[in-house]
Parts: sequence; C-alpha cells; structure tokens
Amino acid sequence: MPDKPEKRQSVLTATAAVAQGLWITLRHLGRKPITIQYPEQHREPFPRFKGRHVLDRHPDGLEKCIGCELCAGACPADAILVIGAENTPEERYSPGERYARVYEINYLRCIFCGLCVEACPTEALVMSHAYDLSADARDKFIFTKEMLLADAPLQRRPSQEDLAAGEEVGDFRILKEGLARARALSAAEGAAPGNTGGDAGGGSPA
Ligand code: SF4
Ligand code: SF4
Repeated sequence: MPDKPEKRQSVLTATAAVAQGLWITLRHLGRKPITIQYPEQHREPFPRFKGRHVLDRHPDGLEKCIGCELCAGACPADAILVIGAENTPEERYSPGERYARVYEINYLRCIFCGLCVEACPTEALVMSHAYDLSADARDKFIFTKEMLLADAPLQRRPSQEDLAAGEEVGDFRILKEGLARARALSAAEGAAPGNTGGDAGGGSPA
C-alpha cells in the first residue's frame, strides 16, 4: 500500500495528464479539419503529381499512339502490353502506318515512375491527376485502351502566353483541365472530334 504522500503524488500526476489531454482537445476544437470526406471530396494533388495514364489524340481525333511498344520496353515493372497492327485506308486509327490494336496497363504492377511517358516518341501517353484506383477485383486494375484513350485531344504543354491566369507550363493539372476545355469546345461546336478508335468514353483522366 502506498503511503499518503505517494498517493497524493500519483493523483496529481493523473490529474495533470487528464488536463493536458483536455487542453490539446480544446486547442483543436476551433480549427478547420485537415481531413476531407473522400470519396465525395477529392484533394487536388501537387501540380506535377503522376496519376493514371491517358492516351492522347491529335486535334483531328486520330490517336497519337502508333503502337511502337517503346513505352512497354521502357517500363521497369513490365506493366504495359502493346500489340500493334497496320492501319488500312478503310480502318485508320493513327496518322502513321501502325496503331495500337491492344494497349493495356496493369496498375497492380505500375509504380508511376513516368518512364513510359518519357519514352513515347509521339507524346501519346500522359499521366493525369487521377488517383482513384481502388477496385474489388484484381482484373479491374488492368486498364484497356478503351479505358485509357481520351475522348478528345488534351491540351499539351502550351507556351506561357497561351495559359490561363495561374497556370504554369509543365503543370500536369492543365492536362485534366485541357480535356475539360476540349470537351466543352466540342459540345459548343456540336460535333465531337473524330473517334476512330472505338468507344473512348472511359478515357477521362478526371
Ligand atoms: S509509370 Fe513506370 S511503372 Fe507505370 S507503366 Fe509507366 S514505365 Fe511502367
Ligand atoms: S504510347 Fe507511345 S511509346 Fe507506347 S506504343 Fe504508343 S506511341 Fe509507342
């Protein structure tokens, strides 16, 4: 059994600890929370954040990807599968001789290093700000060409004069906003850019 002074000391210590905890709670009561209500709310990533990929189009709607497989060769995680095929006069998907008949990225493997983007000779491949990559089955992490292909040309690294106030050259945020602008323009003109690569509706990087 502790004697009286020891007992008094332990009561004082416990009271001080409770008071300290309450003080911390009170200090944070009036502060704005730093958490957000995800997935209803999304936090805007840093400007050069590398999210999931988008396959871009030319202004005339043709695909920029020529099926060269350089991105697949550069990928350190072996995450990209490209199977090229020849364009024909009847079925033309890209301006060159070849196009990507199959294009897949396996997001169970991808480490978002961006080497594939660096390797692409036509700037077909870009990385968006999209980071929602949760799913309830492993095969849902394999994104097909239809899922990756933008439904309208993205705005690509313009000169500083072309940018809206607050935008910076090299800011990946403009890719997403560029797509939104392209869609709005298409809607305003009443004609979407040509879609020769099948259903591209899943290509939004947003
Ligand atoms: S970001 Fe890196 S790991 Fe992911 S597909 Fe591209 S090269 Fe491969
Ligand atoms: S995304 Fe670029 S590097 Fe990859 S196959 Fe298409 S053109 Fe070639």
